[in-house]
Amino acid sequence: MNEMLYQDQPVVAPEVLEALAQKTDVNRLLAALSDLDADELRRMLRALDRSRAPVQPPPINSDLYEIEAELSPDEREIVLRWRSFLRAEVAPIANTYWERGEFPMQIIPKLGALVMETIGKGQTHYPRMSPLLAGMLTCEVARVDPSLCSFLGVHRRLCMTSIWLFGSQAQKDRWLPAMLRFEKIGSWVLSEPLVGSGAARGLLTTARRDGDTWVLNGQKKWSGNATFADVNCIWAKNLETGQVNGFLVERGTPGYHVEKIHDKISKRIVQNVVITLEDCRVPEANRLPGAQSFDDVARQLTNARADVAWEALGIARGAYEHALAYALQREQFGRKIAAFQVQQINLARMLGNVTAMQGMLVQLARLMERNGGQIAPEQASLAKAWCTERMRETVAIARAMLGGNGILLEHNVARLFADAESVYSYEGSFEINSLIVGKAITGYSAFV
Ligand SMILES: Cc1cc2nc3c(=O)[nH]c(=O)nc-3n(C[C@H](O)[C@H](O)[C@H](O)COP(=O)(O)OP(=O)(O)OC[C@H]3O[C@@H](n4cnc5c(N)ncnc54)[C@H](O)[C@@H]3O)c2cc1C
Repeated sequence: MNEMLYQDQPVVAPEVLEALAQKTDVNRLLAALSDLDADELRRMLRALDRSRAPVQPPPINSDLYEIEAELSPDEREIVLRWRSFLRAEVAPIANTYWERGEFPMQIIPKLGALVMETIGKGQTHYPRMSPLLAGMLTCEVARVDPSLCSFLGVHRRLCMTSIWLFGSQAQKDRWLPAMLRFEKIGSWVLSEPLVGSGAARGLLTTARRDGDTWVLNGQKKWSGNATFADVNCIWAKNLETGQVNGFLVERGTPGYHVEKIHDKISKRIVQNVVITLEDCRVPEANRLPGAQSFDDVARQLTNARADVAWEALGIARGAYEHALAYALQREQFGRKIAAFQVQQINLARMLGNVTAMQGMLVQLARLMERNGGQIAPEQASLAKAWCTERMRETVAIARAMLGGNGILLEHNVARLFADAESVYSYEGSFEINSLIVGKAITGYSAFV
């Protein structure tokens, strides 16, 4: 026994003992403590110290493996430009426009200016950039607003790319410079009310040659941007050859009718439509001469699918970041919910998904770069199917982590959660992309 301790000063100050006595039976407490061995006591003291010290959480970082360092300094500069634009111009309005189901038209000229200062700089027809930068920008946009990502995807990735790949020089000169500056907007029209996944096997929309014109008939469904697009790239079955051809149909063409789809629970900012073509006549000069069959469309879709995988990554990153920010400020049982083991496991699972997706997509971008911009269908499809599945798991965890607030737009996760559903199904559903992989690795087609 240390007698000095008792003689010179009390072990515990009287006021501390008194405060303790008001809360608990001090004798019982001391008896319980005296039963603990030295290690147990040390552990308990450490835990008490930790819970008292204010925790300074580190900055939220969804790029744990420093994937952004793979970009060149100039490319990184561009990503940062887009990031600050999205934070300033898009994040503050996204929930409002999503709720209204409207597209923020005022953003279009601003996007045009941003493109011309970054990826369109020095270009006249088409933004040139490395596959890695293209993917990172898609991810960056989706992280803030997946609907804007769809708008850009349909305008550039689908419509501009079709004109760039399959258009005549006259078509390229007429549309691409204005589309690059966002003075003209494009839509891309393949899916139909009765034909979605099976588009390769037979579109019902037909194109009949009549002298110097083509007569289009049929119905299309979904095409984003089409309520206000200036040019619509419409795919139809050539009645003479039985092959799929592409046609540029301008807004206001007689026989071209557009009706907005209103009752969506996902991507509500994207203006999706049903298009009815009734003896809609377009000149031969509006047919895309470079597209001879569905194989050409499929080649374009391969790269588009890789881009949608980057979109899935962006949505997962956004959901992770919002969920972590929420967990760091929300308290239950007197503690931040971020301090609970279960929530930390959830966060680690989300970050694991994000990081694995990043790794896969960076390698896909490298493959694309190495192979002159093209990848194999199964390479794109595996990324699209797997990343959208991981995205879906990630947004579901994030939504649950916010409890009831997870279904409210104001906390941002609800919008990402809902928008993820479209991404899972479009540009080839999860099942269709998995079957493309399945066929490539077994040799058997399981489509029918
Ligand atoms: C928000 C949004 C935006 C879109 N934007 C555009 C656009 O801009 N332009 C455009 O052309 N299209 C667009 N689409 C359409 C999109 O590409 C289609 O929805 C998608 O291809 C799936 O087609 P579907 O909806 O007709 O489903 P279906 O083809 O009817 O499929 C229904 C279900 O059956 C499954 N299935 C189908 N065939 C098979 C099979 N052989 N084996 C196993 N399962 C199968 C599918 O995986 C799916 O689960 C958009 C869709 C959405 C939701």
